[in-house]
Amino acid sequence: MRIQFWGVRGSLPTPQLPSQIQSKIAAILDRLSQQDIETPAARQRFLNALPMWLYGTVGGNTACVSVAFDDPSEIVVFDAGSGIRDLGIALSKQEPRIERYRIFFSHFHWDHIMGLPFFIPAFNPSIQVEFYSPKPYLEKILGDQMLPPYFPVPISAMRAKKSFHCLSNAFTTVPGVNISYKKMWHPQDAYAYRVDDGKHSFIYATDVELSDVDFVHSKENESFFKNVDLIVIDSQYTQEQALEKREWGHSSFQMVADFTAHWGIKCVTLFHHDPTYDDQTLFAYLQETRSYAESMHFKDTRFILATEGLEITL
Ligand SMILES: [Zn+2]
Ligand SMILES: [Zn+2]
Repeated sequence: MRIQFWGVRGSLPTPQLPSQIQSKIAAILDRLSQQDIETPAARQRFLNALPMWLYGTVGGNTACVSVAFDDPSEIVVFDAGSGIRDLGIALSKQEPRIERYRIFFSHFHWDHIMGLPFFIPAFNPSIQVEFYSPKPYLEKILGDQMLPPYFPVPISAMRAKKSFHCLSNAFTTVPGVNISYKKMWHPQDAYAYRVDDGKHSFIYATDVELSDVDFVHSKENESFFKNVDLIVIDSQYTQEQALEKREWGHSSFQMVADFTAHWGIKCVTLFHHDPTYDDQTLFAYLQETRSYAESMHFKDTRFILATEGLEITL
């Protein structure tokens, strides 16, 4: 399966400020020497050697992650934050065309649904768009954000073949792929999803505040979390913030390191970045997470930062 990241921010879209771009340009010029621009190859070497927080960005869109399987005409999407707009534009141009989108919602806080009115495949009558959540009244919940005076057209203007599904237990929606879900702690609840294609396993778990119950070796926890290949998980806070913001519904990156090592998860993508953190800060937190994991001897878990445009193939 191929996982693509279209939106990685939490709470609110976070575009780069002019002052942030200016300070990146200034920092790059500080590192530049005459030899670095003598030939096109030297220039490319210089650019390639820059840290990612300078020569790139974590991205400003809110939560949206897609998972593609063997059949190129279908795709699974988790959450419709502002990143789903870019997903819709990019995948509409893809050949062969995607005929069926299956969109699963972790929950309905604004940062996870705000991109849906701008999801262009949903306006195409020849495309199938299926919406899934364990919560009932999905059509009403998604449609309400498009009612006047919040949006100029209602959800009925989305002329794709739409269907709305209330999930009740473990289920399979893509041939050969099992998708299950688990309720996690977050104000008004959030649902984590686990995807198994028979070869690899993947969890999408955003807007979760981890606690002792998530470490208990219950049958339910074991079958959901144990030995997963890749998890995308809410790690919005530092440990200090997590203590200050108890019951706000998010986890710290140290908590995530403890949790993922506990369950033998192989690769962890830190996700749902706080809108107050710039690129440099987020990469510094990734480094801190790795140092913390090393100090705790969590040798079998790899940590990466979710960035817009990142692709991982399992
Ligand atoms: Zn969120
Ligand atoms: Zn939330």
